[in-house]
Amino acid sequence: MRIIDIRERSAPISRYSDPSIAPGGPALTTSIVALVTDVRRNGELVVGYGFSSIGRFAQGGLIRERFAPRLLAARDQDLMAGDGATIDPFRAWNCLMAGEKPGGHGERCVAVGTLDMALWDAAAKIAEKPLYRFLAETTGKQAEAAAIPVYAGGGYHFSENDARRLKDEIRRFLDQGFTHAKIKVGGRPLAQDLRRIESALSLLSDGRRLAVDAMNAFCGDTGSAAAKRLAPYRLRWFEDICDPLDYETQAEIAQCYEPPIAAGEALFSLADARNLARYGGLRPGHDVLVFDPVHCYGLPEYLKIVDLMEAHGWSRRDFQPHGGHLFSLHVAAALGLGGCEANPHNFQPFGGFADDIPVENGQTRPPEAPGIGFETRDALIDLFRTLVRD
Ligand code: MG
Repeated sequence: MRIIDIRERSAPISRYSDPSIAPGGPALTTSIVALVTDVRRNGELVVGYGFSSIGRFAQGGLIRERFAPRLLAARDQDLMAGDGATIDPFRAWNCLMAGEKPGGHGERCVAVGTLDMALWDAAAKIAEKPLYRFLAETTGKQAEAAAIPVYAGGGYHFSENDARRLKDEIRRFLDQGFTHAKIKVGGRPLAQDLRRIESALSLLSDGRRLAVDAMNAFCGDTGSAAAKRLAPYRLRWFEDICDPLDYETQAEIAQCYEPPIAAGEALFSLADARNLARYGGLRPGHDVLVFDPVHCYGLPEYLKIVDLMEAHGWSRRDFQPHGGHLFSLHVAAALGLGGCEANPHNFQPFGGFADDIPVENGQTRPPEAPGIGFETRDALIDLFRTLVRD
């Protein structure tokens, strides 16, 4: 078994399904990769696909110039599982990280995570198993076949008629089978945030069905003021309150804000996770960890983060991985996490799950197709296949 080619291209990715909303910054991109092996299944070469999750821009230079060449140059025995029949993603990850020093997690972690996603897709396809089953077995666990709790992420600010249009969006989520949602707050007057929350709650009825995400917009004073006003709503969680590395502010707000807080989406390594556990003031069994496996060097590092947080008293049920796509759903299913985000209409064609598996009563299942099952999303697999068409 060999990796015979790795292709990468930057692809545009929109935060918003509504073109009338100004994106408010440079156009977002992601890296899509195809990792071509010499293994055949059903007469076709097995190709593993991956992308840079959602929200951190493409990683083309790092992938093409630094990390993909290491995989292509690796000796077969350094990439393969013991029986030589398939890729061992953990061994391949060691090849990716050869020569890398501690620290410097800012962007390379996403590049490595992107290739890691493609490695897992290829390895599970060669094993002819869906990723959740392959990953569970690889990590010595029972494969979870149960439906996974998912919630709809979205609720970005609309430039006009914000409250009414937010309600329309929440109604759409409910019509699609979701029972829980997450909307954006922060960066605008607090009164506007409260109006948004009231609008969403007019449909969701219960604060425990609504989470809010400040996208790191608050500092110490503004975060405390917001926490005070949000607390009476008893929301499901208050996410990404302040700068992800400002553990002091995070800890101060955790002391005065009793309902759950979520953090970790913008932390990119085991070292960052350790600092969050030591200094972030979060409460195991009460707060929520939204680390994104792709953003923190892929699954080998994410698994270390899960172990680390368990050693600090957290449960796997406290994890709700960011991303809102198929890969995170498989990870949640394989590792027995509390659930995961869904992006049913933002970040297309990457957000969301299999085209033909609905969300019902706030739960869904990963597809049974081999690998991650990108082939179950028509628009997404069409995009990936442009990498290998010629
Ligand atoms: Mg977030």
